[in-house]
Amino acid sequence: MAQEDIFKKLISHCKEYGYVFQSSEVYDGLAAVYDYGQYGVELKNNIKKYWWDSMVLLHENVVGLDSAIFMHPTVWKASGHVDAFSDPLIDNKDSKKRYRADVLIEDQRAKFEAKIDKEIGKARKRFGDSFDEQQFRETNQRVLANQVKINELTERFTKALNDDDLVEIKQIIIDYEISCPVSGTRNWTDVRQFNLMFSTEIGSTAEGASTIYLRPETAQGIFVNYLNVQKTGRMRLPFGIAQTGKAFRNEIVARQFIFRMREFEQMEMQFFVRPGEEMKWFEFWKDLRMKWHQSLNFGAENYKFHNHEKLAHYANAATDIEFRFPFGFREVEGIHSRTDFDLKQHEKFSGRKIQYFDPELNESYTPYVIETSIGLDRMFLQVISASFDEEEIPKENGTKDIRTVLRLPAFLAPVKMAVFPLVKKDGLPDIARSIINELKFDFYCQYDEKDSIGKRYRRHDAIGTPFCVTVDHQTTEDQTVTIRERDSMKQERVKIEELRSIIREKVNFKNKLKDLDF
Ligand code: ATP
Repeated sequence: MAQEDIFKKLISHCKEYGYVFQSSEVYDGLAAVYDYGQYGVELKNNIKKYWWDSMVLLHENVVGLDSAIFMHPTVWKASGHVDAFSDPLIDNKDSKKRYRADVLIEDQRAKFEAKIDKEIGKARKRFGDSFDEQQFRETNQRVLANQVKINELTERFTKALNDDDLVEIKQIIIDYEISCPVSGTRNWTDVRQFNLMFSTEIGSTAEGASTIYLRPETAQGIFVNYLNVQKTGRMRLPFGIAQTGKAFRNEIVARQFIFRMREFEQMEMQFFVRPGEEMKWFEFWKDLRMKWHQSLNFGAENYKFHNHEKLAHYANAATDIEFRFPFGFREVEGIHSRTDFDLKQHEKFSGRKIQYFDPELNESYTPYVIETSIGLDRMFLQVISASFDEEEIPKENGTKDIRTVLRLPAFLAPVKMAVFPLVKKDGLPDIARSIINELKFDFYCQYDEKDSIGKRYRRHDAIGTPFCVTVDHQTTEDQTVTIRERDSMKQERVKIEELRSIIREKVNFKNKLKDLDF
């Protein structure tokens, strides 16, 4: 099935099973804003907890923070967002559709990359085990020709971005014959910059209302609290401050479901280090964050680093961790070396001294900062798209059945255990409920008595519940139940009293965090 169709299926699955709904759907929705349903919110909370615990619990020099969304307007002047937080936009005059000019160019580059991948895929099939990808890349004429195109495009594009040359960006779109995916034409407007911050008024008009912004990143709340946390927590460098929370961006193009939203959630950590040591820590966090992603076992081949061609005004190194979504490799997390830019700017605009006294060096300085910044919603999309599966199950009559299953990592799954009485009588529902009452303090359990057992299994496969427990007549005699595992569909008869330890072993965060604690 084409990746595009899989993605469509995934979106409708998210809706059908209470994971993600379009915001204000009864009013036909609000573009690029989504709500998380009864299972979505559980999965989202679990991902957030996994991130938080692996940052704060596993690093004694990382502490948390929860700063307000509203901040003093000067924060955004100091940070550079008022002047420079913008994307280059371009409109197609025929379809009247608006695009990010840089994304159109990046998509063009991805097309060249896809051609190379296709050649490599074909060759791998042809040569089997003896295939040497490196050699093939260096010698195959079609691969080389596409690589030259990629290099030329990248060089031109990087220069245009660094020079803020909007005319050249449009020229690249014209020269590479990039057309509008909707109208198919190349009838483009000029490229212009568009600020992504939402603004609103604070205070009543009588008091004299003033314009403030909805934060476009959580990071600035950390920077302006750097001194508070450092002093009250008696923190010594290097140390980090972690925070999760909503951020808002008036994105030009809102597509691809929860990948690009106007209201989204970030999980950010700013790590303060001695000047001159930032590259060491940049490499440290780059490595650790990639390990965190790969700990979910979605396959190492589905991740890659993408170094930034154009560094933001505050950065001296930056890379993205990209994941292979159904629509291709895209950024999930950014790791940036932000220098001392933000703290220095806040020092300048506030007139306060924001420094660190280093007792070892016996001197004060402005710390440098390494940032790890991940979108919770993009992480959610990563988890759910990697877990979505339509498995073919051969039937006895020779035909095939399709089982839709969310193979969520068990510790992230919303419901850990569903309990079914085989029938709604003979005391079986009471036993099922008593099992839940016993175990509901350990993990999220659900009771289900509707439809046949087979249908109930399928319903929980689609939700991603790792364990289903069935109470039958034998249970009344020997206190045993069947436990069925989602992925293998294997069923086993176990004692009720063993359920807690069997399931807890598989679903708890502790085991996962231990794997991560290198
Ligand atoms: P992009 O290039 O995709 O717009 P970005 O480089 O602007 O992303 P950052 O400013 O580095 O993103 O933000 C850090 C993280 O926040 C991103 O890696 C992403 O996971 C998340 N993020 C950013 N913008 C959005 C959005 N509009 N919707 C959902 N998540 C987002």
